[in-house]
Amino acid sequence: MWQIIRWVDSHNCYGTIVGNDNRSLKSRDVATHILHNMREDLAYPVKQIRAFIKDQLNVDISYSKAWRARKEAIERIYGSWESNFEELPRYIAALQESNPGTIVEWFHSPTGSSQCYTFKYVFWAFGPAIKAFLNCQPILSVDGTHLKGSYRGKMLIAVTKNANKYIVPIAYAIVDEETVESWTWFFNQLWVHIAAYRGKKLCVISDRHKGIINALKNLQVWRENAVHRFCLRHVRSNLMQKFKVSRLKLLTWAIGTTTQLRKYNHSVSLMTNINAEAWEYLRNIKESKWTLLKDKNYRRWGNMTTNISESFNNALGGIRLMPIKAIINCTFEKSVEHFLKNTEIAWNCQTRLPPRTWRWFEKRDLKSREHRIIEFDFRRGRYKVVSKIQTNSTGGNDYTVEYLDKKCMCGKWQIQRFPCSHAIAVCHNRGDPPETIVHELYTTGAYKAQYEGQFFPLTHQDYWNDPGWKIKADASKITTSRGRRRSRRIHNEMDVHHPDQPRTFRCGICKQLGHRRNACQSSHP
Ligand SMILES: [Zn+2]
Ligand SMILES: [Zn+2]
Ligand SMILES: [Zn+2]
Repeated sequence: MWQIIRWVDSHNCYGTIVGNDNRSLKSRDVATHILHNMREDLAYPVKQIRAFIKDQLNVDISYSKAWRARKEAIERIYGSWESNFEELPRYIAALQESNPGTIVEWFHSPTGSSQCYTFKYVFWAFGPAIKAFLNCQPILSVDGTHLKGSYRGKMLIAVTKNANKYIVPIAYAIVDEETVESWTWFFNQLWVHIAAYRGKKLCVISDRHKGIINALKNLQVWRENAVHRFCLRHVRSNLMQKFKVSRLKLLTWAIGTTTQLRKYNHSVSLMTNINAEAWEYLRNIKESKWTLLKDKNYRRWGNMTTNISESFNNALGGIRLMPIKAIINCTFEKSVEHFLKNTEIAWNCQTRLPPRTWRWFEKRDLKSREHRIIEFDFRRGRYKVVSKIQTNSTGGNDYTVEYLDKKCMCGKWQIQRFPCSHAIAVCHNRGDPPETIVHELYTTGAYKAQYEGQFFPLTHQDYWNDPGWKIKADASKITTSRGRRRSRRIHNEMDVHHPDQPRTFRCGICKQLGHRRNACQSSHP
């Protein structure tokens, strides 16, 4: 027996009239058909638009027609880049008026006039996020990613982590290209409006883009107040492009992430045996820049990667396809959501550490129960901790804990600012409340402080003032041809997808994630 599951009413007429003729179906018709899907998911892939049209109308359309249709659908939802620029001055003025503390800085191209500027760079950050950073770990991960709409620009972003180990977006920019000039401008704004309040001992984590490296070298404030560290995933990806030996991939990760010298030395000697050149390559990048152990004063706080792709994939979704005003507005709306979600978690939290951090602690706490403690000097807080011998004959190692200095031979406590199982064992032994040995910035108190800032809705558009200036796009940056532009970054594939993350497929028929159209069961009885 047949059962009607899907009723495609408005599509049937097309299906019969058009037939399988590519030419009679215009991109604007395709745009109409995919408008609903695009609203749901702006990052709806071009490939799937083709599959969807084939499925719905039984018409094969070309890649470029599908691409144009997607562009048109986005313009119907968010307007064009040109119209976005027209609305931009009023929008920004309204945003800043309703949300005091919102920073927006411009850098105009010299080709404009005094009545109408030509856009080159914009930098923005929201007041509550700037406040949040004052109470977060002094880490800024930065990265750039190319825009995928009809403007040939790049989006730059700086993020940090909150007490609950979530990514917090701090500042954004749109620039024409990732150059030393644009990165220098970005870091200047970042310093003046945000980092300066956080003071010294900052750590910037990024890939090895020359623009970032040189900007941080050129700017005195950054040279004096921050260190620059590299994302281990990017370093490893660079290495793998040169030396295609899979063992090296694991070893690079092991060397980069270990907190113990004996393990470090062991992995290094393994690597030298496999490929001495590969180790030479990594050494030339400088161990302090990409390993946890040789990072002087442990400025990374245990952060190995930029995590930017995570925030782009999860939080910002299809933002790279939007025009400029929509991009800024999207970061505003996502920030409001982010604050709402985290505020709820923080104010409902009954433990002294936020939920994810608490689970991290509990895991180590559990392990701490298996250790044997030998007291050496109670007054100075010196202990020897012996880990339990496991069934696979690992463990049974000695660790010296300098409790009052918050140090353990295993390295984790001083590197992560979060106690290892050995430290927790000593803590129990001394009868101290265990959460007191966690760094202040990981506590529920810090978490609440990070989300003290407030957002306000924008007033009705009719109340927006005209700030009396205009801005337009640099016409040479607007493209009408189909996308898939090549980025000049080496690690382009990592902009969206870090190589370790499994790819998720989206079904061309039911649009669900997790399977492809040939495995779909939902709409074909
Ligand atoms: Zn990375
Ligand atoms: Zn330890
Ligand atoms: Zn399906």
